[in-house]
Amino acid sequence: PAELETYAFNADISQLMSLIINAFYTNKEIFLRELISNASDALDKIAFQGSQDPSKLEAEPNLCIKVTPDRDAGTVTVEDTGIGMTREEMILHLGTIAKSGTKAFMEAVSAGADMSMIGQFGVGFYSSYLVSEKVRVVSKSNDDEQHIWESTAGGTFLVWKDTTFEHGVISRGTKVICYLKDDQAEFLESDRLKELIMKHSAFVGYPIDLRMEHRKEEEVEVHEEGEEAPEKRRKVTVSYSWELINKNKPLWLRPAEGVAHEEYAELYKFLSGDWEDHLAVKHVAQGGQVDFKALLYCPKNAPKDMFDMGKMSQRFSIRLYVRRVFIKEFNDLIPKWMGFIKGIVDSDDMPLNISREMLQQNAILKHIKTGLQKNIFSMFQELSQDKERFKAFQEAFSQCLKLGVYEDHANREQIIPLLRYHSSKSGEDLVGLDEYIERMKPGQRHILYITGRTKRDAARSPYIEGLKRDGFEVLYMTDPVDEYAAQFLKEYRGYEVLSCMSMDAARLLDHRSEQDLKAELEPLRKKVQALSPGFTVALASLPVECCARLAQSAEGKVLELNFKHSLLKELG
Ligand code: ADP
Ligand code: MG
Repeated sequence: PAELETYAFNADISQLMSLIINAFYTNKEIFLRELISNASDALDKIAFQGSQDPSKLEAEPNLCIKVTPDRDAGTVTVEDTGIGMTREEMILHLGTIAKSGTKAFMEAVSAGADMSMIGQFGVGFYSSYLVSEKVRVVSKSNDDEQHIWESTAGGTFLVWKDTTFEHGVISRGTKVICYLKDDQAEFLESDRLKELIMKHSAFVGYPIDLRMEHRKEEEVEVHEEGEEAPEKRRKVTVSYSWELINKNKPLWLRPAEGVAHEEYAELYKFLSGDWEDHLAVKHVAQGGQVDFKALLYCPKNAPKDMFDMGKMSQRFSIRLYVRRVFIKEFNDLIPKWMGFIKGIVDSDDMPLNISREMLQQNAILKHIKTGLQKNIFSMFQELSQDKERFKAFQEAFSQCLKLGVYEDHANREQIIPLLRYHSSKSGEDLVGLDEYIERMKPGQRHILYITGRTKRDAARSPYIEGLKRDGFEVLYMTDPVDEYAAQFLKEYRGYEVLSCMSMDAARLLDHRSEQDLKAELEPLRKKVQALSPGFTVALASLPVECCARLAQSAEGKVLELNFKHSLLKELG
């Protein structure tokens, strides 16, 4: 065709494609989920444009996805009426723009990661080469004429203007045609495709229609001319029908009672790109002043780049829908430290055509924000009732909670009871402040903690020896963020929170008079003085209580010297 041009794939993408095409990998079915997810994204984009400017939808008001297996052609086609791509966009998005996820994905796979994680790395489209020897993308955007993209991998792709309309005229949207490899014929079976769509894409917010093939085999008698007896032959009749696969209402609009764990899990994976199930989910149907439905998920694991602040601001957390229409992904609907929560919120009360700027000031949105926070806290609260799961939660997200104590003034009071620490009495378990208070020594008025680089360091701190001996429980704060959080942890339920390294903690142990202490201290003072005259001043100027502890803790010369060294530093 005229205007046909050959383009070279970006080198990394080219490498990725040969990896995919040669992969010895059994779970190839995920390609369908990836193509449907791209279709759904494309529909989200045009739905949003349409909510701002209805004329954008004119070319094709019906928003839907169609999946068509074609046994004769050996193809399976995923088609959407989404935003489509211009010629330029096809060239950029399907092969030439370098994506950071490309290399990262190849590295992850060679390190043993599962191929099905591909979507998370932003290169899901190329999974079509798990099952295809050739892929064609036919697309029509509002801003361009219909074009075709084609590649058999091998480092290059072709793009040309569609003039023959071999695959039909598209009013708006995209058709991805997978020419299946010979050994992938299972994806020509409509029953198999139905099973896959129900498994991976049942929650997609647009209707997915699948073309079902009905084969009827029967024995017929054919009486040919000149033959004596009729001959029996097998006759196959094929007919087709369209079947809507995702008949169910979107999950979040259904009553929570009827939703199975697997359904929640599939939606969670779709939202987060995680390959594991969620740790907890909160299904919210809020009435009252502002109506909204929401699904809030807590993942099992923290993303590796959780504290990479650059990425933190890019990472989206909550998807906002207005009357089932996807509006925008937000990362500021909930406080930053809650950013690991993934979810969907859908409200009938928001205007559809609200602009992005106005969204920030919107009063209804403010209500939604408050409601989401409240429900996230209640999800944490519920989690904390289950010891094992809450421990997993702490392992993944305790740093986020502590960050919250530090920076989320408004919610501090709610976060503190969720904090958990190892302690001198907790063994392998974790203890929260409430439990700590419950098992305090009679008459104890302080919550005691010690900081350290590791649990072992903290446990061996000379500062806590005496306190432990006296029956006090000491919390181990071993995370660098603990120090920040501790600044705002001065008091809890009327109990003073106290570092074991402080004078006040040392004082807890003093059951002796000042006179006695001084006398007890005298040998140490002399010893230090003898060792170095420079120490004399320092030691002499220390408050008595601390010196007493020093003497008490000093078990050998080395410990003594360590002590003096750190004390000297403290004293400048
Ligand atoms: P991701 O979906 O994470 O961006 P993909 O590799 O799945 O990565 O898709 C790459 C890009 O190709 C998309 O971002 C989009 O710009 C474009 N694209 C893919 N499929 C479609 C489609 N059906 N309609 C419109 N654009 C699409
Ligand atoms: Mg994708």
